[in-house]
Amino acid sequence: MNIHEYQAKKLFEEYGIPCPKGAATSSSDEFEACIDSLGEGLVVVKSQIHAGGRGKGTFTDGFKGGVKLAKTKEEAIEYANKMLGNTLVTIQTGEAGRKVQTIYFTEGADIKKEYYLAVLLDRATSRPVIVASTEGGMDIETVAEETPDRIFKVFIDPAYGLADFQLRELVTKLGLSKLESKNAAKLIRNLYTMFWEKDADMIEINPLITTETEDVLALDAKVSFDSNALYRHPEIQALRDLNEEDPKEIEASKFDLSYIALDGSIACLVNGAGLAMSTMDIIQHFGGSPANFLDVGGGASKQQVIAAFKIILGDPNVKGIFVNIFGGIMDCDVIANGIVDAVKEVGLELPLVVRLEGNNVVAGRKTLDNSGLTIVTGSSMADAAEKIANLVA
Ligand code: ADP
Ligand code: MG
Repeated sequence: MNIHEYQAKKLFEEYGIPCPKGAATSSSDEFEACIDSLGEGLVVVKSQIHAGGRGKGTFTDGFKGGVKLAKTKEEAIEYANKMLGNTLVTIQTGEAGRKVQTIYFTEGADIKKEYYLAVLLDRATSRPVIVASTEGGMDIETVAEETPDRIFKVFIDPAYGLADFQLRELVTKLGLSKLESKNAAKLIRNLYTMFWEKDADMIEINPLITTETEDVLALDAKVSFDSNALYRHPEIQALRDLNEEDPKEIEASKFDLSYIALDGSIACLVNGAGLAMSTMDIIQHFGGSPANFLDVGGGASKQQVIAAFKIILGDPNVKGIFVNIFGGIMDCDVIANGIVDAVKEVGLELPLVVRLEGNNVVAGRKTLDNSGLTIVTGSSMADAAEKIANLVA
């Protein structure tokens, strides 16, 4: 689960991670009050969307920059009015962009140098890793590609925690002064504590900056949390912004379905994440393109299957449906009944190919055969995938 920069910075404050003072609002009536709550000087106006690259982004009406530096209050209000309600396209949003529904005003910082700092989970070592770089404010993937020697990593033993020598190693490699090092070490320690206590997946500060007064500040914040741990953090769950999520994915999460919308035309309904991934691959292999990832899980109920079907059929890009079930734990007949009931309820104009195998498959096939629906069955996963790809092509 992702949160906005302004929400992340509130958490930063709680954890003693310094950042410029700021205020957020979703209403243009409050722009002035937000700006007045900040100190004198420059104001940075920042579009709040769950995507990076805002500074270099462009709005669909041609207005440039989702992050703007304003010299006066009037200028800041003018920028904010141009951003609010407008759609921002960045390298991370895709062509459609994202509608800006909240504006964050923050004090302008006097930047001496920009750095990159992140804590995330490293899958290869199954450990948290702190990544730091002297190349801040830039796309970190580009830095990794062009100047990998300027990226420093520290892997953390989760049982031991972050050690002081690791902090010293990081600040030394970043080439910080004595006072900056002291400030940065404190910031990084607090950042790791937040990462750990809040079950974050990733916290990225790009840029982290030093100032002429040798302070170290987080100017940007991108934070995501492990959704499997959210039950432990109602305060984090409360930060979820449904405006930023695909409505189909929100609906799926209500029914405990693992669903991710994609942009192809063949909808998949599968049990098991591994099978769901190989189903997407095999669709592609036969020249089709998957419209989604959908894992109904091992113990799906009829209600979940019906909900899944409705979500799939609610996607206007879907031109055909592929149900691929390997009933290990899953009872094939439950799936079959779910399909039949869902189709009776919502109708079906699209080709539907079903491959059922495993537990109670005979009853499942019978349910489909007796349903009177036009359902194409596949004798194997490959056979079924080829059939749906041909039907949709
Ligand atoms: P994004 O990464 O989405 O483009 P950032 O918050 O990193 O958004 O802002 C883009 C750039 O704007 C930063 O790299 C930094 O140079 C500048 N910037 C952001 N916040 C401030 C601030 N408070 N004071 C001065 N410059 C800022
Ligand atoms: Mg940034």
